[in-house]
Amino acid sequence: MSDQTETHEGGCACGHVRYRMTSQPLIVHCCHCSWCQRQNGSAFAVNALIESDRVQILEGDVVEITVPSPSGKNQRIARCPKCQVAVWSYYLIIRGGVSELIRFIRVGTLDNPGRVPPDVHIYTSTKAPWFTLPPEALVFEESYKIDEVWSEDSIRRRQALSSAAQR
Ligand SMILES: [Zn+2]
Ligand SMILES: [Zn+2]
Repeated sequence: MSDQTETHEGGCACGHVRYRMTSQPLIVHCCHCSWCQRQNGSAFAVNALIESDRVQILEGDVVEITVPSPSGKNQRIARCPKCQVAVWSYYLIIRGGVSELIRFIRVGTLDNPGRVPPDVHIYTSTKAPWFTLPPEALVFEESYKIDEVWSEDSIRRRQALSSAAQR
């Protein structure tokens, strides 16, 4: 199966914003950090990481706000200007300039979020005590090393981004 054939569409709550991921994501995080908990008003966040140029806005537009993040990197969150639902985010600064090229799609805004399950659970040191991790889950108490977790194909895609960012 080519990853280019697998697309996913999503949108905000009011229908103003519609978007498409034009391939499978690089990886899907289920993040249990206290920051994601607060931002989402929930127990965790599920984010699909994908190259920004693989996200097409099909209808409407987004407005971006900047919020501080614990790492010191500013996080940009893209929201529907009408219903304010956040559809994705990205970071302004990450080593090698890669961050602006990768979006964190909020999986709950996809039409079929069940098709995009988490690949890895991170920051489980602060997970909700009542949430039981699936027994087969790949779990990290904090973060992880990309080379040890991402698929070979995703690592190649990320390397392509890094070299593009340096040009
Ligand atoms: Zn909306
Ligand atoms: Zn988090």
